[in-house]
Amino acid sequence: MIVRRAEQQIAALLEPVAGEDARLEASFLLRASGFHSPYQELSETDRIALKPLIERRLSGEPLQYVLGEWEFYGLPFYVNESVLIPRPDTETIVETALKLLKEEKRDVLDLCCGSGCIGIVLAVCGNANVTSADLSGDALELTERNARRNGVAVTTVQSDLFDGVEGTFDLIVSNPPYLSKEEMDARDRSLRFEPEIALYGGPDGLDFYRRIANEYRRYLKPGGTLLLEIGATQGDAVAALFEHSECIPDYGGRPRVIKVKNDD
Ligand code: GLN
Repeated sequence: MIVRRAEQQIAALLEPVAGEDARLEASFLLRASGFHSPYQELSETDRIALKPLIERRLSGEPLQYVLGEWEFYGLPFYVNESVLIPRPDTETIVETALKLLKEEKRDVLDLCCGSGCIGIVLAVCGNANVTSADLSGDALELTERNARRNGVAVTTVQSDLFDGVEGTFDLIVSNPPYLSKEEMDARDRSLRFEPEIALYGGPDGLDFYRRIANEYRRYLKPGGTLLLEIGATQGDAVAALFEHSECIPDYGGRPRVIKVKNDD
């Protein structure tokens, strides 16, 4: 059977979970398995090797975990169930940070780094000197692999928020867990494959912002900036935790980033 035909068959199988993206997902699975040309022949062994991937996707597991990698900001990142899948939502904090970084090399802390994607993009595109911190050792291992994959070095620190972090930074970026209890209970099937510790921000979703608001000053250089990704409904509540803050919307016009300047 040729790849083109296999893609149609896999798409038909994936339809119940992937809907109108079924054909696209089938082509992603084939490419990840090394089949790039539509007229390449698939042997029986090739088809058997694809089966477990199709079954994982049919169980509701997100495509990104099945593939084991996903692109963010045009760069490739390994992903697995110990980290959140990088989302387009997070491009807003990256773009805001890149504007601040401009030419010179700056010290950046990526708090709750997960796959490492924010800090690594800032190292690659913003010439930043990056420290990536996370509570999860598995996430830090992935961050290190992702840094190597993208040809940059980042310093990794296992840390419960700032607890294990040393030094001061020009820029602190963070996409902390921010879903509320209600949002966690209502989350759809694909989100259930993602790690709860990366999603759940306490009963009202704001626990991590409160802790960050209490502690960030000690880690920010004079004139430095703190950037926090937030949920679309959290703008006012998170802004109220800081003295001077600005809310930056995403391309859909939804509140997405809180910017806090250290004026001390
Ligand atoms: N943006 C994610 C979502 O809504 C949540 C990410 C997070 O908690 N940091 O699924």
